[in-house]
Amino acid sequence: MSVSKRKFKAEVNKILDLMIHSLYSHKEIFLRELISNASDAIDKARYLSLTDKTINPTGDEWQIELIADAEAGTLTVRDNGIGLTRDEAAEALGTIAHSGTKEFLKLLESNKTKDNPELIGQFGVGFYSAFMVADQVTVLTRRADAAPDEAICWKSEADGNYTLEDITKETRGTDVILHLKEDEKEYLKEWELRKVVKQYSDFIEYPVVMDVTRNQPDPDDKEKSVEKTESETLNSRKAIWIKDKSEVSEEEYREFYKHISNDFNDPARTIHYRAEGTTEFSVLLYLPKERPFDIHYQEYKIGPTLYVRRVQIMDHCEAMIPPYLRFVKGVVESADLPLNVSREMLQDNKVVNVIKKNITKKVLDNLATMKKEDLEAYTTFYDQFGRILKEGIHNDFERKDAIAELLLFESTKTEPGKKITLAEYLERMPEDQKEIYYMTGPDRATAESSPYLEVFKEKGLEVLLMTDDIDDLIISSLGQYQEKELQSAVKGDLDLGDSDKKEEKQKEYSDLLALMKEQLKDVVAEVRVSGRLRDSAVCLVSGENDLDPQMEKMFRAMGQNVPQGQRSLEVNPDHPLIAKMQALFTADAKNDRLEEYVDLLYDQALLLEGDRPRDPVAFAKAMSQLMAEGA
Ligand code: ADP
Repeated sequence: MSVSKRKFKAEVNKILDLMIHSLYSHKEIFLRELISNASDAIDKARYLSLTDKTINPTGDEWQIELIADAEAGTLTVRDNGIGLTRDEAAEALGTIAHSGTKEFLKLLESNKTKDNPELIGQFGVGFYSAFMVADQVTVLTRRADAAPDEAICWKSEADGNYTLEDITKETRGTDVILHLKEDEKEYLKEWELRKVVKQYSDFIEYPVVMDVTRNQPDPDDKEKSVEKTESETLNSRKAIWIKDKSEVSEEEYREFYKHISNDFNDPARTIHYRAEGTTEFSVLLYLPKERPFDIHYQEYKIGPTLYVRRVQIMDHCEAMIPPYLRFVKGVVESADLPLNVSREMLQDNKVVNVIKKNITKKVLDNLATMKKEDLEAYTTFYDQFGRILKEGIHNDFERKDAIAELLLFESTKTEPGKKITLAEYLERMPEDQKEIYYMTGPDRATAESSPYLEVFKEKGLEVLLMTDDIDDLIISSLGQYQEKELQSAVKGDLDLGDSDKKEEKQKEYSDLLALMKEQLKDVVAEVRVSGRLRDSAVCLVSGENDLDPQMEKMFRAMGQNVPQGQRSLEVNPDHPLIAKMQALFTADAKNDRLEEYVDLLYDQALLLEGDRPRDPVAFAKAMSQLMAEGA
């Protein structure tokens, strides 16, 4: 029998050192790593056994076994997979052959891994994670095609060395025996192992079995109980995403959704398909019914769980999905990605980009179908996630038209709570209407009562009411729908078919307007006759390309520097007050009253916008005086 003592390669020592001294949370993932290795080993053996009948001649079930020995303080992960030869053991368990090792070491050193256990599996150094919980690890292994006396015992205490010894092993495959550290003995407990397997390895294809001892009533004496030990399978083994749709029940879909989402509601929609072609992958995605409370938090994790050949690579793969679909939950499995793929590698990966594109289209298609088939259900969904979905208009140029079809808005002609699509708006607008009108505001009531809508009301034109904080940004990005411009009721010079009259009035009042402009030159860019006012005397209007006042306020509140837009004061030529000013002006262009009126009008315009007059005290005083004079 030959025992040989060998030294680990330098990078292994480094990894071990960091594993032992830097990783404190989620130590339980060592079990996921060992089970995943066992599963890989079985995959290989199973594949060989297809052509080599000596590999599993008796047709034993492929399985992974957990053996907790409380007396010895050991936990064994046993498989009947491919096993290792002496050379393979030295290579696989003494070096690190993966390309990502350097990056991984950097990451470990930067401390980012503490709360990111998935990183360990990603970098293909999973075996060494055993040393997070064990001070000694023994591996007994026999290649599937080797004789019992050709087996190997690998042993290490993570002290820079390991030993290799020839041994005899009756069964094929590998036992990884962990001599648990004193304070890691919880991994001997049935419930703990059960929990960890369920959490991380539930969908491993092979059964993960464990002997479970229970007290049962003694059949001979009902007063007494006897201990009975039975082998139990801990994982559900249901990789439903790679099954055919016809093989999965609604119930199974729902159960799986709850398992991966921590949502106790049923999903609003399930999307399950397999893509075939140059890149092959399976997708099982869900649209939730309700917005999770943490979806706006920075820590909210985006993206489906990524599996590569049934092994979970990361629980949230954000590279797979655009941020505006961050409410989507699910699983993607691809065989075209390497098992040791890292987040960094995923960022600009061809396969990932193909999958992401495909998923994005599928989700949007599904939303379109949902809207078509059951508008009520879609509206309920939209009320929860529309605010997020519409970010896509701004961020996904390629798909902004598809997303525009999914938008819903209330309007001046819908009942509160009822929404219409842009297509419906087009369908019911008068033939000679050239643009789609919209109005932004903090809520429906405020938007509806705004003076900016006066002319639309009078002419019976429908105006979409937009109450989400980002609507103005979204609509600017969209620009047009079906070649119709989207025109804000609060921005730009409106032309609703009265341009002749407007021009005429503009001429008539031009001197008065010039006087007003001169007095207000520091606060407005222009003073002009309005095409939108009917009852109010004045209003302030932003430039066509400026942020609307609501957005401007929002950005300012967030502490951002917003350039002051070019605002115009619009004047209602039919208002008695304006007529009176014109009369005063014609009589005496230097009348002091005019200056007072101009200031008052401008402050009124600020008030109508929901803002404050520039000097509230002066404003109140001037008002009171006017009222007293009028009385
Ligand atoms: P990875 O599994 O990503 O390659 P690990 O550090 O987990 O990285 O394992 C290193 C290597 O050790 C594996 O590639 C495999 O060759 C070998 N190995 C680990 N566990 C087993 C096992 N249970 N049976 C056979 N080989 C194993």
